[in-house]
Formats: sequence, C-alpha cells, structure tokens
Amino acid sequence: MTAISQAIHTLQGSLPKGVDLVAVSKFHPVEALMEAYNAGQRIFGESRAQELIKKVPEMPDDVEWHFIGHLQTNKVKSIIPIVSLIHSIDSEKLLRTVDEEAGKAGRIVDVLLELHVAQEESKFGFTTEDSLRLAGDGTFASLKNVRIRGVMGMATNTEDEAEIAKEFHAIRAVFDTLKQGAMSANPEFSIVSMGMSDDYEIAIAEGSTMVRVGSKIFGPRQY
Ligand SMILES: *Cc1c(COP(=O)(O)O)cnc(C)c1O
Repeated sequence: MTAISQAIHTLQGSLPKGVDLVAVSKFHPVEALMEAYNAGQRIFGESRAQELIKKVPEMPDDVEWHFIGHLQTNKVKSIIPIVSLIHSIDSEKLLRTVDEEAGKAGRIVDVLLELHVAQEESKFGFTTEDSLRLAGDGTFASLKNVRIRGVMGMATNTEDEAEIAKEFHAIRAVFDTLKQGAMSANPEFSIVSMGMSDDYEIAIAEGSTMVRVGSKIFGPRQY
C-alpha cells in the first residue's frame, strides 16, 4: 500500500460518523490524487481555479470537487460547471457573483460562508456580525442560485491549542446561532467545515462536520 492510500484508510477509519473528509490536493500531481481515489476517496479540495480546471478532465467523473481557496470574482464563471461545494465565500460581492453566474449557467451552487475568526489580519471572510446581518435582513433568502449549506473557517496558525479550540468554538457558535435563527427553515444548512492537517482533531472536538486535510495525506506540497 502506498503512503497516500495508507493515510486515506487511517483517516477514513478514525473520523467520527458524520464528519466528511475533503482531501486537499492542491499542488499535487494527478498521480497522487489517483492513489487517494483508488483508496476510496471521492471528495477533493483545490484552491486555485486554473489548477482545478486542469485536473478535472484527468480524474474520474465521480469525483466531487470542492473549491477551498480565495476565489477572485473573475474566476467564478470558470468553476461554476465543475464544483459541488465552494467553501470560501468570503464577501457579499463574491456571494452575489456566484449567484449571478450560477443563474446564467442554469445551476444551483452549494456554498459555505467563510468566517473570519483567526487573529491573522490577512485572512478573508465574514465577521460574525456580517453573517448574522445578511442572514437576518433577507439577503441570503433573496439569492436564488446559491444554496448556503453552512460555514467554513480556519484557526490561527499557532501552537496554542486553547486558542485554536476557542476559535473553532466561535465558528461553531455562529453556525448554531444561524441554524437556530435565520436559517432554521433550511435543513440543508448543515455543514461546519473546519480543521486541517495540524488541527482537525481539535476541530472535530469543537463540532466540525467536514475536515480539509492536505499534507497529512499527500505530504509536502510539490509545486
Ligand atoms: C491548504 C488548505 C488546507 C489543507 O492544509 P493542510 O495543512 O495541508 O492540511 C485546508 N484548507 C484550506 C483553506 C487550505 O487552503
């Protein structure tokens, strides 16, 4: 068994029921993705539109492609026909662009709201206040071609596990507030995407339903 298939089996065997695994395959060649595929993995996450578009025809048709990186509005149109879930909706402008392009393509696209809770200045995403406001003022309900499936977030890149747990807790709390409030009529609002190679166990303990794991499966990124 290869290291990649071993990692997939180990992860798939250790994740609690109700937690999905996104294999983050950015910067890895299709041969590596195929090893994961042959080990049973079907959900792959990519963070750059061009790389995603290039890989799709080289992989089997039953792969579910998730987009997880910062998405520029001028790239939205190119990924709409491909993606089954966009994790990284980080602004109202991007959300509206996805809605518009999905409409033109005759698709309804599943998306997550990326929340900004980490201490790093550079991270994109909605504040708690913005996400509650947009849910409450009817903006989400007015968008007909996107389905808001949940939230996504990243913790600060730190060794401080208490800080990481606190930030994941905050993401889950926003999800719960929306789920019990403005999104309560939407049963499809059900996904909390949080946790990467170094912190997915903390994320699961704090209520993640979907982890995005890259280097722990594929090793260091290759290009
Ligand atoms: C790269 C990336 C991951 C995976 O990171 P690893 O540390 O390699 O597991 C997860 N989520 C996002 C948004 C990423 O960009």
